[in-house]
Amino acid sequence: MKETNTKFGFQTNSIHAGEKRPTIEGAVGMPIFQNSTYEVSGAKSYDSVRYTRLSNTPNHVALAEKLSALERCEEALVTSSGMSAITTALLATVPAGGHLVAQSTLYGGTHAFLTEDFGNLGRTYSTFEVDDMTALERELTRKPAVLYVEAISNPLLKIPDLARIVELGKKAGALLVIDNTFCSPYLFNPSQLGFDLSLHSATKYLNGHSDVIAGVVAGKKALVDKTRLLLNHLGGSLDPHSCFLLNRGIKTLAARMKMHEENAMALAEALAGSPKVKNVRYPGLKSHPHHQRAREYFRGFGGMIAFEYNGTAEETDKFLDRLRIPFVAPSLGGVESLVTRPVTTSHSAILPEHRLKLGVLDNLVRVSVGLEDKNDLIADFLQAL
Ligand code: PLP
Repeated sequence: MKETNTKFGFQTNSIHAGEKRPTIEGAVGMPIFQNSTYEVSGAKSYDSVRYTRLSNTPNHVALAEKLSALERCEEALVTSSGMSAITTALLATVPAGGHLVAQSTLYGGTHAFLTEDFGNLGRTYSTFEVDDMTALERELTRKPAVLYVEAISNPLLKIPDLARIVELGKKAGALLVIDNTFCSPYLFNPSQLGFDLSLHSATKYLNGHSDVIAGVVAGKKALVDKTRLLLNHLGGSLDPHSCFLLNRGIKTLAARMKMHEENAMALAEALAGSPKVKNVRYPGLKSHPHHQRAREYFRGFGGMIAFEYNGTAEETDKFLDRLRIPFVAPSLGGVESLVTRPVTTSHSAILPEHRLKLGVLDNLVRVSVGLEDKNDLIADFLQAL
C-alpha cells in the first residue's frame, strides 16, 4: 500500500490507504479485529507473533499505513493516547543522561511530563521562547538529543519559524520532533520540512468526534520502530475498537478541516470586532503575529481561536456560561464547538507565575470551532459577549 503514498491524493488516501482489497466478506468498512491474540502459524520468533499490545494486528497495520500516507513519511504507529505518543517517543529518542530543548509554551500535559517526570527518568530539559532564536542557539550548545516544538502552540497559537528550527536543530545534531496535533496532517506534513518525528493527539482532529483517546507517532522508520519497541514494553497500545473508530474518523478529516477553517475564520473576524474581546489570535487573521508563517508552512489556518475576554476570570466564566452552543470543556478538534479557560484545564498544572510569564492569562479563552452553522456560532458568541 506504500504506493498509495504517491499515487493518490490526500482525500483518497484518508479513505482507502491501508485497507486491504478484497475485504473480508466484501465489507466496505474495515472490520474490528476484536482479538487479543492471533494464531501462530510457522512463527519462528517473538517478532512474528501477532498480539494486540504489540500494535501489529490488522487494525493497527491499516492505521499505520494510512497515517504514513497522510503524513507523507516512512512509518507510523498508533498509541493509546496523545500523551502516550509524546512520552514514549521522547523517552525513545532522548537517552538517559541526555538533554531535550523545547519551546516554552507547550501543551500542559507535555509541560507536566517534562517538569515532573523527565528528571526522575534521568533526562534533562531546557526551553526557549519561540521567537528568540538567540536563546535557541544558546540552548543548542548543550548538544540536546532532541529539539521539540509544537506546530501551532497550545493555547496561544504561536507558530515557530519551522524551517529555521529545522536548520538550527540539524546543525546542532539534534533530532527534530514536533507535536502536529493542532494542524493534523491535512494542514502540515512535518517530514517534508525535515522533521524526524511528528506526534499527534489523535483524540483531536484526526478522530474528530470526541469519542476516542488515541495518539500517533509518524516519521523516520528507524525512530518509529524504536518507539514501537519501547511502547511494547510500556504497554501503551491502542485497543482494536478505538483503532476502528479512529480509522473511521480519519476518512472525513479533509472535509472536516475545510469546514473548521471556514467557521473559525468567520468567528475570529466577528470576535475581533467586539469591544468585549482583546487580542483575538487566529492564524488566518492578518493581525496574528505569525500569519505569514501559517501561509508559508501550512495548507490552511485550522480551527482553533484564542482571545482574552475583557474582564476578570470570574466574568470570563460567566461569559462562557452564557454560551448556548459550545460545550465548556477541555479538548478540541471535534465536530462540536468547545470552549475552555486553559488556566483551569489544559494549563492548570503550570505554576501561576510561570503561566503569567508565558502569556497564558486568567481571562484567556480557547475555542475549538466545530462544524455547526457559522451564523449560529457567531450569533451565540455575540449574545454571550
Ligand atoms: N498535544 C496537544 C497539543 C494536546 O492538546 C493534547 C491534549 O489536549 C495532547 C497532546 C495530549 O493528548 P491526549 O489527551 O490524547 O493524551
